[in-house]
Amino acid sequence: MKNVVYYLDRPGGSFTRTEEDIGDPGPGEIRLRTSKTSVCQSDVVIYNVGLPRIRSWPAIILHEASCFVDAVGEGVTRFEVGDLVGLGCDIPCGERQCIYCGPTGTGDWTSCPQTQATGHEFPGFARSYAILPDWFVEYGPIVKFDRGFDPNRACQLEPLACGLEGMTRVNHCIENRIVVLLAAGSQSTYALQCAQAMKARKIIVVNRGRERLERVLSDFGGPNVVGVRWDDQVVENVLAECRPFNEPHFVMVNAPVAAAYDLAPKLMGYGTVLDGHAGVKGAEGKPRLVHEIDLNNDIHYRLQCYQATHGSSMHGIELAHQMLASDQLPQIDLMTNATERFHHSEILSAIRRAADKDSLKVIIDWDE
Ligand SMILES: [Zn+2]
Ligand SMILES: [Zn+2]
Repeated sequence: MKNVVYYLDRPGGSFTRTEEDIGDPGPGEIRLRTSKTSVCQSDVVIYNVGLPRIRSWPAIILHEASCFVDAVGEGVTRFEVGDLVGLGCDIPCGERQCIYCGPTGTGDWTSCPQTQATGHEFPGFARSYAILPDWFVEYGPIVKFDRGFDPNRACQLEPLACGLEGMTRVNHCIENRIVVLLAAGSQSTYALQCAQAMKARKIIVVNRGRERLERVLSDFGGPNVVGVRWDDQVVENVLAECRPFNEPHFVMVNAPVAAAYDLAPKLMGYGTVLDGHAGVKGAEGKPRLVHEIDLNNDIHYRLQCYQATHGSSMHGIELAHQMLASDQLPQIDLMTNATERFHHSEILSAIRRAADKDSLKVIIDWDE
């Protein structure tokens, strides 16, 4: 059968539509028909400047996907034709014996020296069909949703999973706590919804631009959500919003800029957890961002925690799956408005839209 595949020829280049033959899945494999793909900010970066992890061009990008199972190979019992599935980006290396990725490993796929990710080393979902290898089907990041579940929601499993990894690496840092989200982009907007579902006491969204902050507050706000502009008074204003506490309990860096790593430590108080969720990289590589910490007074006596997560493992995927499937994020459809929906023939426009300052989540439709 025919598979429509879009190849990005090079960073900054164009997408070429090709039609290729795709066969039947082999033993243990499944064939997926792509339904929706959402655009990650990493896709925008890959489009603009490439990524060292993409070693050969042309490349098939896009990793946030929901798909229908189209055919199953011999021996597959977990999936059947017609199942709707959501997928993660970080995937096992494929070596069964791997101490990180194998079925008896720790599950810390991103710690594996051979770590790979969809849309990076492994071909992405800018194609109408894909065959998943047996190890992906058996123990990779693929979860099933009930029949009738909205594929527009299922494709957002992966970005949600990444945020939830950061919000759950330290126990009890959200429930009944004051949560500060630096930036009001899609990761903060997912975190805001998750923090609501996890019963945070108060959520403070910090953003430079007024436009996106207003969109996020009006669509995802609530009595316990406030916005604070990221200006010269940001530290005082955030701390004032924490009253009667002296500090926030959780600070999530969702802005991939050095300024966020300058601001976040200034908000650290008693028992604060800092999640360095967004990394900083530019044309010159990854800059050193140095901050002095007193391991005794800050870490021991003030119980501060500096932590981060990269991507998602099965832990985050399962949490995101549970939240989506049990409808704990009722506002999630507002992440994507009419200007953020594209047909697969418009991938480039979709990526450009995702780069806009007011955009939250762009979804590309693959259903004909
Ligand atoms: Zn993503
Ligand atoms: Zn491995």
